[in-house]
Amino acid sequence: MKKETNITQISLKSIKKGPVVWLTGVIHGDEHGGKVIIENVFKKIKRSGLIKGELYAFPLINKEGFKKDLRLIPQTKEDLNRCFPGNKKGSLGKRMAYIISKKIMKTKPSLVIDLHNDWKNSICYVVIDPIRSKELKNKVEKIAKNTGVVCVREKNLKYNYNSTLSGHFISKNIKSLTIEMGGNSKKKNIEIGTKVVFNILMDLGMVKKMKKYVNNKKLKNQIFDYFEESKISKKGGIEFLVKPGDFVKKGTKIIKIYNEKNKKQFYIFKAKESGVVLGYEDLNIIKPGMPMIAFGVSKTL
Ligand SMILES: [Zn+2]
Repeated sequence: MKKETNITQISLKSIKKGPVVWLTGVIHGDEHGGKVIIENVFKKIKRSGLIKGELYAFPLINKEGFKKDLRLIPQTKEDLNRCFPGNKKGSLGKRMAYIISKKIMKTKPSLVIDLHNDWKNSICYVVIDPIRSKELKNKVEKIAKNTGVVCVREKNLKYNYNSTLSGHFISKNIKSLTIEMGGNSKKKNIEIGTKVVFNILMDLGMVKKMKKYVNNKKLKNQIFDYFEESKISKKGGIEFLVKPGDFVKKGTKIIKIYNEKNKKQFYIFKAKESGVVLGYEDLNIIKPGMPMIAFGVSKTL
């Protein structure tokens, strides 16, 4: 039983005291990018040195899911990123969440970064959970703004955020954020993800200063609100009229829905707010209830 909850942990410690940062990858077994990024980051820092603090990682949390390329824990079909805070004697997912939390908390973390992959067609962006404490919110937003990529605030309160890894640490008053690194296994996304992690470590003074990666200068100091468009009344073919990373004005035509048989268009979606396209569904056919496209929206754009 114990073997099932074994998660490989790696670490680098500087002789100089400083921030304690955690990187976690592959909590969703079909999102492989985090593992590669963590390996890259550790390899680079082993060469250049950790100036101060401690860097820890769980590069491959959902190992069984990873082997089978499944999002969930294959044995129990649980989403491990909805199992927090976890439970010592609960299901496999709850036990794993409990152990992850306990091991991370033991190191007195200053920041926990959870690495995910999004739809195939998406850009790299940072997600901030809803945070009640103003002080903590300001600190997390400051880190997020310095990542060089689009930052979005999660607003959808459909589920309990404390059940996710980042939300769990936020609830414990620890700085935490999620990085969605775009689609799986794209070399470019791995490069960007690695740079984003380095931007954060550089800001914390843990690695030597180098040129900062900025994806788009337009994004500077802007935090967007996450918005997902998913209201479609009937099944149809889907065509996107915008690309991930595009800035669109309110009212811009974004999606065409058409009849699969006669290809006749029956609906056009327009952007409800101005914003940046984060990504969209990989499929060509869309069914009611499926999220189609995600935006970071802003009234000031
Ligand atoms: Zn994920």
